[in-house]
Amino acid sequence: MKTRVRFAPSPTGHLHVGGARTALFNYLFAKKTGGTFVLRIEDTDELRSSEESIKSIFDSMRWLDLKWDEGTMPDLSEKGDFGPYMQSKRESLGIYKKYAEQLLREGKAYYCYCAAEELDAMRKKAQLEKRPPKYEGKCRHLSSGQIEEFRKQGRKPVIRFRMPDDGQTVFEDMIHEHVKFENKLLYDFIMVKASGYPTYNFACVIDDYLMEMSHIIRGDDHISNTPLQLNVYKALGWEPPRHAHLSMILGQDGTRLSKRHGATSITEYQKQGFLPETMKNYLALLGWGNSDSQDIFKKGELEEKFDISGCQKNSAAFDPVKLKWMNGEYIRQLSKEELFAAAEPYLKGFGLVLDKSNPFHLDIVAIEQEKYKLLSEVGGLVDFFFKDVKYDESAINKTLKAPNTEAILNGIKRVYSEISEFNDVTIEAKTREFAASNGFKNGQVFHPVRVSVSGRTQGPTLFKMLEYLGKEKVINRIDKALRLLQ
Ligand code: GLU
Repeated sequence: MKTRVRFAPSPTGHLHVGGARTALFNYLFAKKTGGTFVLRIEDTDELRSSEESIKSIFDSMRWLDLKWDEGTMPDLSEKGDFGPYMQSKRESLGIYKKYAEQLLREGKAYYCYCAAEELDAMRKKAQLEKRPPKYEGKCRHLSSGQIEEFRKQGRKPVIRFRMPDDGQTVFEDMIHEHVKFENKLLYDFIMVKASGYPTYNFACVIDDYLMEMSHIIRGDDHISNTPLQLNVYKALGWEPPRHAHLSMILGQDGTRLSKRHGATSITEYQKQGFLPETMKNYLALLGWGNSDSQDIFKKGELEEKFDISGCQKNSAAFDPVKLKWMNGEYIRQLSKEELFAAAEPYLKGFGLVLDKSNPFHLDIVAIEQEKYKLLSEVGGLVDFFFKDVKYDESAINKTLKAPNTEAILNGIKRVYSEISEFNDVTIEAKTREFAASNGFKNGQVFHPVRVSVSGRTQGPTLFKMLEYLGKEKVINRIDKALRLLQ
């Protein structure tokens, strides 16, 4: 049987780390097994779903280069033989209604007329009596007279699934192995809301079955939904797909990753200056690893090496320090051209509009490539090449106010103005010669020159920096520093 897997986001916000990891593992599983990766939109929450969220989720998936073969496509068109792939569209076609009616007819589901206040009171009572606050089946056996009465009152019913009272629901999870639930702990969940819209647990089963999913790979926050869903498969006489529940992702404090831990949405990581390749690689390591505990995967390598047997049961820790380290590794692997292209959108945020066909611009952007950890920090490190220099207060006090600075800057200015080939090699030779012949230590000369031209005590290698700035700018800036000293 051909593998068919799906990512089924509920469009109620941006794509989060957990969702992105689920999407990635489904994508990788499909790639590895030569299967089909389907995208289904689960927009049955009428109030919270939005097209804006769909777009944002698609943008993030595209950014991560997670292409799907079938389903709702980025332009919201549909591709594939099992459409529509958006649950709201499927609902209007009456797809869920048909199966809900079948289950009602067969006595496997029932109308429930309990009002919100009644359900609330039941929950509170259960709490007081220290029972699990589950629906106890008040409407399981309504007489036709009672139903008539409720209808007259204008009550709108929901449809509940009739869960077996005893026995167990068991399944072999591809990650968690043998999973067992006592049926008495399950509850008669709502399949269809009073609005006529299906709920997640019901729509999901119908769609996974009709779309011929072979495997369900999702976060383990859904593991308690699986027995509910398996009972629906059973009631409909359908063979369920295989399940794999991915381990929980924890923040640094050991609790489930959430907003409290900082950025959780993929767009935020994009804004912060992570490369999509880093993100994809890092997400793959959240609950998965290969036998050689490899950290960095080359392009296309994950698609080859991913194996679901490498998924761990234990929760995965999201480590922002490791993520940043990895981004640095990825940035170092970029060519100058690639780095320029990746950094360009962030440079614009610093008011730097550079030209990729200008080799100096490429060199400047790459001047501290070894050190970059985030693309968003490049602009702040190189802006002094293009903008007027701003002197850092502490740099002035520490370096420019040192003894002899004025004499040193005046002297070196004369030296530089006489260099005809203004490149790092000649500048370095002349600077060292000047220091030696005037009895200064190298540092006594290098430091004030650096501060004069960049305004900072730290930065790129000095002589390359002077070369890229060019003779004229260097001399002007030394003049500016001298004026500051007077
Ligand atoms: N719409 C569900 C979610 O976003 C999908 C869960 C599933 O994969 O079954 O959590």
